[in-house]
Amino acid sequence: MVSDFLSDQIKRVAPSATIHMAQMAREMVAQGHDVISLAAGEPDFDTPVHICDAGQQAIIEGKTRYTSVDGIVELKQAICEKFAHDNGLNYRVSEINVSPGGKAVIFNAFKATLNAGDEVLIPTPCWVSYPEMVSLCGGTPILIPCNMSKSFKLTASALRAVLTPRTKWIILNSPSNPTGASYTHEELVALGEVLLEHPDVLILTDDIYEHLLFDDRKFATIAASVPALKSRTLTMNGVSKAYAMTGWRIGYAGGPEWLIRAMRKVMSQSTSNPSSISQWAACAALTGPQGFINEWQNSFQKRRDFVVNSLNNVDDIECLKPDGAFYVFASCQGAIGKMMPDGRKIKNDKDYAEFLLSDGLVATVPGSAFHLDGYIRLSFACGQDQLNHAMTRIKEFHSNLC
Ligand code: PLP
Repeated sequence: MVSDFLSDQIKRVAPSATIHMAQMAREMVAQGHDVISLAAGEPDFDTPVHICDAGQQAIIEGKTRYTSVDGIVELKQAICEKFAHDNGLNYRVSEINVSPGGKAVIFNAFKATLNAGDEVLIPTPCWVSYPEMVSLCGGTPILIPCNMSKSFKLTASALRAVLTPRTKWIILNSPSNPTGASYTHEELVALGEVLLEHPDVLILTDDIYEHLLFDDRKFATIAASVPALKSRTLTMNGVSKAYAMTGWRIGYAGGPEWLIRAMRKVMSQSTSNPSSISQWAACAALTGPQGFINEWQNSFQKRRDFVVNSLNNVDDIECLKPDGAFYVFASCQGAIGKMMPDGRKIKNDKDYAEFLLSDGLVATVPGSAFHLDGYIRLSFACGQDQLNHAMTRIKEFHSNLC
């Protein structure tokens, strides 16, 4: 049996549902179906030219060799400046990690710290990879349900109720994938007060959607909102979403030196350094012009408004207006229990997403992938034309349900 060769850990891990839906959509397209994919999690903009030029220049200048394991000094300095300028956080170069993507930053941090029995608190709905990465690294994910009536956010009292002596980490993600919910400074202070009572808990804040925040909201991050927590917080970020650099694979974090050193050790025996070319491009991203970020934000905000209004006009669908990121997390509970025209019953959100893809030709991701059933996640990181068609198709799909 092939499965006998597999580790117990990998058997426990679920494949990424977002990648699965995107793959199903691609296969349907390859078969000639005109599918609109709202499943992907990447901006539809191209990487800005000056960033691509910096990558090309790195190749021309022969900057194509191994670099120091967790990032070149020039990039680490740019990251320190970014943290100071944007977030009011002062990190030294020795407190910075650069990994091949934000995902790898998180994985390296968990690999460096989790022992069997260690619990990681994860407010849900959450990004698909958090619980699986915790399991892969030998820890135990503890999911904290945060429902729509609480704007999908963790409250101080809910946090207090789940902390135990086994809690090693808590993950915060603002703006959130999949809900777009964001924490204000005051909300982080309230959570921080609880965490100050638990000095053995580490905090991972995933700030990858920092620059996708709408309606003039001010971005807040816990190490700045509650400075007393900075010494046990890993502030993670990356260039994937802010600079449309998903394929370049650069993520970074600021954190305590002991943790950064341990993460470097993980990298030194696994991936080694992120691509040298991508590191130089990321340097250009962080130190170059930032004006386009606002333009992209405005464009995403317009698309968000369109998608939210369109969805809330469909019977059986209900959604909140996300504060940031480029996802709408919509309840499809009204459609569950209904029949497709050919008699198939929609039993749950997985059926809903599957039938919407097969019959409505719109790819989304079921909420259960993010640990909240009865919802779907739609990405609005695609062109307005595609969004127009997708919303028309969703409306039509619903009008055929009985
Ligand atoms: N964190 C969240 C919440 C995400 O949605 C993603 C990507 O989808 C990442 C981290 C990882 O980003 P990357 O590995 O591309 O830097």
